[in-house]
Amino acid sequence: MGSCLFCKIAAKEIPSQFIFEDGEALVFKDINPKAPTHVLVVPKKHIARLSASTDGDRALLGHLQRVAARVAESLGLDSFRLVTNNGVGAGQTVDHLHYHLMGGRAMQWPPG
Ligand code: AMP
Ligand code: ZN
Repeated sequence: MGSCLFCKIAAKEIPSQFIFEDGEALVFKDINPKAPTHVLVVPKKHIARLSASTDGDRALLGHLQRVAARVAESLGLDSFRLVTNNGVGAGQTVDHLHYHLMGGRAMQWPPG
């Protein structure tokens, strides 16, 4: 996906503040943080949104949650929120699957 922002970040064509990377996933700081800790957990594979994933992505989706848990621990977060916005109506602005990992402040429920 040549024009996709997060594909370009994964390809290092656009700089970002990396926190973690392995063969399938990357984690980098959100450019407009909404919490003291706000990073994005992203698959290197282009999947537009969670609803565009398939059963073939099951292992990858599980891996992303494990990456999120390990990064949260490494950042010293015992309480955190992991959320994905699926579609414009849910607030999705970048069409490449990503999970917001946020912590460091009290969270409201339900989210707006
Ligand atoms: P969403 O609105 O759920 O699609 O989330 C997209 C997130 O990507 C937002 O929180 C943006 O602040 C963040 N974002 C956009 N561009 C960049 C970038 N170049 N580097 C890091 N985060 C970004
Ligand atoms: Zn992409």
